[in-house]
Amino acid sequence: MSWAEPRALRAQIQTAVELLYPPRCLGCGEMVDSDFGLCGVCWRDTPFIGGVVCESCGVPLPGAADGYRIECDDCMAMPRPWSEGRAALLYKDRARRLVLALKHGDRPEIAKPAALWMARAARPILEDSLLIAPVPLHWMRFVKRRYNQSALLAQQLAKVTGLGHCPDLLLRRKRTPMLDGKSVTERAVALDGVIIAHPRRQSLIEGRGILLIDDVMTSGATLAACSDACLAAGAAEVRVLVLARVAKET
Ligand SMILES: [Zn+2]
Ligand SMILES: [Zn+2]
Repeated sequence: MSWAEPRALRAQIQTAVELLYPPRCLGCGEMVDSDFGLCGVCWRDTPFIGGVVCESCGVPLPGAADGYRIECDDCMAMPRPWSEGRAALLYKDRARRLVLALKHGDRPEIAKPAALWMARAARPILEDSLLIAPVPLHWMRFVKRRYNQSALLAQQLAKVTGLGHCPDLLLRRKRTPMLDGKSVTERAVALDGVIIAHPRRQSLIEGRGILLIDDVMTSGATLAACSDACLAAGAAEVRVLVLARVAKET
């Protein structure tokens, strides 16, 4: 083999690495034979979202689909600036641990299977023309944490779906305090004017549908601020896709 075949070489190295380190379940460490990341037991114990969902935030809803657009109470009470939204997991139990491990635990390898789960959940809202963009992290937080989990998910999702991808479409101009525990109004105030479209990415956004990516959706305030920034910069439409949705216990 010559060095003129880097792709073949990479594939060989990849195979060698897989033989040395066979893929392991992200939940329990057992060996698994697929790229989907979880063994059968952990798969069963992970709250994947399926069935009828809110078209705006992806939360599962009771009842059967009747052909009309349905939304959860939260989205009806607080209309979203984006048009469609989906989530792969409910943010609880094993899913919560996976999300936290991706965020704080230095386990970036979770992003790869997570992107497959997200692509599956997003199938009804994906279109070839969508441009993928992550929710931005302030650079100070980025330095501290060393990576932006949303950017990692967006990057993997672009690979999985083949959609266009712009990692710095949006910018966070100042550091926002943690939004956990704040009311909807407090969150909106804290985020006012904080997120803007990158001035040099204007031509990418104009007239385009944007698919925003984040790890977790709680109130939706951050995604709303990002959507507003895209729409202000001329986006035709915004859709959102998250790894996990925080849902009220019913
Ligand atoms: Zn497992
Ligand atoms: Zn909803």
